Amino acid sequence: MEVKVQRRCTKMASERPCPADDFSIYYVLAECTDHYDSSPVKEVEENQPHSQGVTGLRNLGNTCYMNAILQCLCSISPLVEYFLSGKYITALQKDCSEVATAFAYVMTDMWLGDSECVSPEIFRSAFGNLYPAFMKKTQQDAQEFLIYVLNELHESLKKCHRKSCEKGSIPRCCRKTIANEVSIITQLFEGQLNYSIMCLKCENCTYKNEVFTILCLPIPSDYECSLQDCLQCFFQQDTLTWHNQIHCSFCETKQETAVRASISKAPKVIIFHLKRFDILGTMKRKLRTDIHYPLTNLDLSPYICPVFRKHPKYNLCAVVNHFGDLDGGHYTAFCKNSVTQAWYSFDDTRVSEIPDTSVQTATAYLLFYSCQPFSIPIKKCKS
Ligand SMILES: [Zn+2]
Repeated sequence: MEVKVQRRCTKMASERPCPADDFSIYYVLAECTDHYDSSPVKEVEENQPHSQGVTGLRNLGNTCYMNAILQCLCSISPLVEYFLSGKYITALQKDCSEVATAFAYVMTDMWLGDSECVSPEIFRSAFGNLYPAFMKKTQQDAQEFLIYVLNELHESLKKCHRKSCEKGSIPRCCRKTIANEVSIITQLFEGQLNYSIMCLKCENCTYKNEVFTILCLPIPSDYECSLQDCLQCFFQQDTLTWHNQIHCSFCETKQETAVRASISKAPKVIIFHLKRFDILGTMKRKLRTDIHYPLTNLDLSPYICPVFRKHPKYNLCAVVNHFGDLDGGHYTAFCKNSVTQAWYSFDDTRVSEIPDTSVQTATAYLLFYSCQPFSIPIKKCKS
């Protein structure tokens, strides 16, 4: 399996007149159609019976959550670029390469294969070896699955590696600070929150950083609200009282505390998890709030520390939808294809182009936004 992927990717790379550095292909495609025809991604299209990356995924028995996440990740152009160009091969760790290799295999099939739909079986079994829960044919939470996938890809591809690849490591979302370990995953998805923590008695302020790959947003309404309402709710000042009080080192006792978060490092691709599954004690329910989210120009500047406000505007690139209830449900994905610039609906093997106006629905569960570049990168050709 590994050999096959490597061969394919090497072939792909050698055909390219201009190996792209960074994420230029993505931005060139997104912003400047002049470069469109010369892009390597476009080059192989003539041989394809269908658009690249517009490929369905077979359901292996309740694997719609996996398919929806794979579709979204396989529509993030810089990530596609990284895997299809074969760059990932040099980063691969021998002791934990199985998941990343399987991911590359599925992505290669989705982008360069001849079939209108492919099976994610290889990826599922590689992933299931590490996390047996995902091998069972039961419903899983797409957000939880995404955390594990990003974590595994990071572990396989990071530059500063741990000595051994332990099974079931701590997800990166639980780490407190940005580590020295760099991977395509941290480069694209990792952000940092800064918490200011103020004692309400002595007004002494302390600060704490926390890395994130997914922001879990509360939903402030049962019926209708905007994504900005959810963001305001997340970033508003929180007062911790009673048993939530925090120890103040100046007062030397627990005190009422005001906590406020802001983004101190904005990721290139920011993922929002809309907390539709509400658990109050023993009561569980799904919020069916119609959350309005913009397709372009989502402004995050109110939540980003002023010094770090470089690219505050974001554009939607993918959506995971959830239908049904907590116990039984179905996941689908909407993804924008970087080659055709059109939106597609992916419902396992069923794929259809949809108008922009259909991308906003009340079933949205995960939203992927990418930041707009300031300038159009010029193609970097190494002759
Ligand atoms: Zn104090």
